Amino acid sequence: MSSTPVSSRASESDIRSALHASIHRVDVDELPIVDGDYAALVRQQLALLGEDPEREGLVRTPDRVAKAMHFLTAGYDMTVEKIVGSALFEEEHENMVMVRDIELYSLCEHHMLPFFGKAHVAYIPNGRIVGLSKLPRIVEMFARRLQVQERLTEQVASAIDDVLAPRGVGVVIEAFHMCMMMRGVEKQNSRTITSALRGVFRDDGKTRDEFLRLAYATAR
Ligand SMILES: [Zn+2]
Repeated sequence: MSSTPVSSRASESDIRSALHASIHRVDVDELPIVDGDYAALVRQQLALLGEDPEREGLVRTPDRVAKAMHFLTAGYDMTVEKIVGSALFEEEHENMVMVRDIELYSLCEHHMLPFFGKAHVAYIPNGRIVGLSKLPRIVEMFARRLQVQERLTEQVASAIDDVLAPRGVGVVIEAFHMCMMMRGVEKQNSRTITSALRGVFRDDGKTRDEFLRLAYATAR
């Protein structure tokens, strides 16, 4: 089997490929990312686990894991400004704008195991709105980093607050954590729910209630 060419770290273009993949949903295994250091680390990890890194099924695993990890942490190289771009519009809409059930996949920073679930994001504009598709992309940008769910929730709220200066922002995230489910720490079906509220979502009881009612409407 021919060996993969090796460079010491992921290059700019590798990272761009990962970002591109995250937008266009390509197969991560096919990404042209080459990170010899990371792959070597995974090879060592396999050996430490008592595996034979040279056996057929594992020979390409270090390379795949390196690609997957670059993909799953591609959010470090994104900025809210780049994501939002020119998709800000003057608009006098004064009611709540909400995108529910945004799929979310992240990695907990304590165990580097996945947590996954849904985000519900809402804001009340103050003279301008953002293209709706940008809200899931902002969630994705922060999710594709090593995270704790609490910080992820706050970062999404703060980013929207900063970029739109709206009258208020509300974010609810509900997620399952593999580190809880697989390590037997808690019951298999326990779901962690976090919320972050800014502006009128925090200060006005009626707005907060409306948001939370909508956010939890189909929460199961
Ligand atoms: Zn964890």
